[in-house]
Amino acid sequence: MDDNRRNPSSDDEVALRRIQRLSLHLYNPSEPHSGGLSLLPCRAKRNLSPSVESLSEYMRGPHREIQARIFEFFQSRPDLQTPVEISMAEHRQLCMRQMTALVREAGIRPFRYLVENPSAYFAIAEAVGGVDISLGIKMGVQFSLWGGSVINLGTKKHKEKYFDGIDNLDYPGCFAMTELHHGSNVQALQTTAIFDPITDEFVINTPNDGAIKWWIGNAAVHGKFASVFARLVLPLQGKGGKSADMGIHAFIVPIRDLETHSLLPGVEIHDCGHKVGLNGVDNGALRFSHVRVPRDNLLNRFGDVSRDGKYTSSLPTVNKRFAATLGELVGGRVGLAYSSVGVLKIAVTIAVRYSLLRQQFGPPRKPEVSVLDYQSQQHRLMPMLASTYAFHFATQYLVDKYSEMKKTNDDQVIGDVHALSAGLKSYVTSYTARSISTCRESCGGHGYAAVNRFGILRNDHDIFQTFEGDNTVLLQQVAGDLLKRYQEKFKGGTLTMTWNYLRESMSSYLSQPNPVTARWEGEDHLRDPKFQLDAFRYRTSRLLQSVAARLQKHSKTLGSFGAWNRCLNHLLTLAESHIESVVLAKFIEAVQNCPDANTREVLKLVCDLYALDRIWKDIGTYRNVDYVAPNKAKAIHKLTDYLSFQVRGVARELVDAFDLPDLVIRAPIGMASEAYEQYTQHVGF
Ligand SMILES: Cc1cc2nc3c(=O)[nH]c(=O)nc-3n(C[C@H](O)[C@H](O)[C@H](O)COP(=O)(O)OP(=O)(O)OC[C@H]3O[C@@H](n4cnc5c(N)ncnc54)[C@H](O)[C@@H]3O)c2cc1C
Repeated sequence: MDDNRRNPSSDDEVALRRIQRLSLHLYNPSEPHSGGLSLLPCRAKRNLSPSVESLSEYMRGPHREIQARIFEFFQSRPDLQTPVEISMAEHRQLCMRQMTALVREAGIRPFRYLVENPSAYFAIAEAVGGVDISLGIKMGVQFSLWGGSVINLGTKKHKEKYFDGIDNLDYPGCFAMTELHHGSNVQALQTTAIFDPITDEFVINTPNDGAIKWWIGNAAVHGKFASVFARLVLPLQGKGGKSADMGIHAFIVPIRDLETHSLLPGVEIHDCGHKVGLNGVDNGALRFSHVRVPRDNLLNRFGDVSRDGKYTSSLPTVNKRFAATLGELVGGRVGLAYSSVGVLKIAVTIAVRYSLLRQQFGPPRKPEVSVLDYQSQQHRLMPMLASTYAFHFATQYLVDKYSEMKKTNDDQVIGDVHALSAGLKSYVTSYTARSISTCRESCGGHGYAAVNRFGILRNDHDIFQTFEGDNTVLLQQVAGDLLKRYQEKFKGGTLTMTWNYLRESMSSYLSQPNPVTARWEGEDHLRDPKFQLDAFRYRTSRLLQSVAARLQKHSKTLGSFGAWNRCLNHLLTLAESHIESVVLAKFIEAVQNCPDANTREVLKLVCDLYALDRIWKDIGTYRNVDYVAPNKAKAIHKLTDYLSFQVRGVARELVDAFDLPDLVIRAPIGMASEAYEQYTQHVGF
């Protein structure tokens, strides 16, 4: 049997032979063999034998059925599958046809799920992203951004008027927030919406070129409406009879005629042109020249204007209204974090399958070894595979929390979801972006063929780090939230659920690290979830306490903005550290809750690798404060290598358990069988 078809878990001898071959390769056979690979002693341990089915069943969640329907639909429609080579214009049209067919032919209505069952919506988004990431983003623009703004920022009258058209795609729309001069700083947007009390209309205007709406998805070709974010201005309502600027609000602005599709008067649109990726999405730039819309087009959930031009809101300040408005858009971040894990699963699956198949070199007069048997390849890919599992459970948790938030509207859950979605979106998308390149490198030259996907995945996914909130900006929100809670703690306030751990670990931080446990190096101790979680949380608490002190010190001389900037890298590290703690906690929970003992054991192995690899990668921090003594640091390093080696033994099962159909993987080198055959056929042999 070929090496790539072997089931390593079922056959001790095969595994032993592999190690022997590898040890011969790594050590000069002419020299006396002193024990071979350092990993050999561990071979005494029992082999794991994961069941792909049971693992997959546990990972799958409640919405696999709807994902399967989507895959079957696109599988049955080759005309709707995106080819490797396609022009921008064709790709845009194909993407629109894909979305229309999904809604009107396959009968899948994402918008209804978004409103009634958000976790099913995110599962749909992940599946269509697997078909084509452009399609996933186009769908996100239509339903989550344009539709979501109408539903979440509008009121009953808007829902009644627009829901069906958004749902059945009669009303394709855009979400027009970003301007040429401002993306991240939404409060600085310049587009105006001035109320005209005589005609009972708002006049939407682009006052200068810096205020041109830029990058607006669905605008260049397909959109008929846009929710436009603009400053609401009320003439004569300010001090001394001046105009009053009520801050940023959203307005429904029709941009193209529903029948003829021609641009409406006062609306000018230009194409943002060819992008690095996502060319199936038609991004455009819009200028409004005194476009009039009825007063009813103000999405008025958080602020309204009466017929006589008076402003009312249940929220007392501009800042509170702004926070409430942006807070309603958090679903987009949840979707991006979740879909990013979907992209990571595809890349890791291709890289792992190919690394099992690919053989290069070997001991003299012996068969070549699979490249995944090289320690360096394991080091590249196994912690990544472990992270994919970790992120899977963490984003699943985020989606559940989001659904709970939508159901309960509970303030505590809202706070949690905001910080978690910002943190996970930035942490996961940055990780995935880096990993796609590593996967490409780990597949050598064949990883560079477009058909093998890495280039397309990398280019399409790259912008996940920027849109729906730039990652660096979002991480600062997480840090800000942690600091707020830290202050509350010391003012005697309570810490909310997800952050409770800080309470405990803060007190342990204030005492010095225990010099005895700092030296413990036994495998049982290092693989104890309590040790791992304590280490993660200790680091977060330490970073939090120290940055709070630094901010206080610097703000005296630099002011709050200057002090924040002086501590910015520290703050970003704090936010990432906190997110890693949450990710690990959720992974540990998922391991403990797994009902099948065999599967639990495999997940525990993967979880240990995730935890120890992270600790090892940040070992300097732990050593600096003597949380980990030199002997323990060495033991962590050794164990991490060993766990990578063990995970390699079940890597095939771990990627198969993602349960991704060929339609999603597509790369010939990533196929579960006959990969080389499919690859040669692709080029015409
Ligand atoms: C393909 C694509 C599709 C898009 N679709 C839409 C859409 O449909 N609708 C829409 O409204 N917008 C859309 N956008 C815009 C997108 O949301 C913004 O580009 C994004 O929010 C980032 O804003 P920016 O471009 O102003 O970046 P900037 O804020 O200018 O960022 C530039 C750099 O400055 C750094 N930076 C900024 N502020 C800080 C800070 N406070 N601290 C430290 N560093 C900082 C950032 O990290 C980044 O490295 C899209 C963009 C693209 C590229």
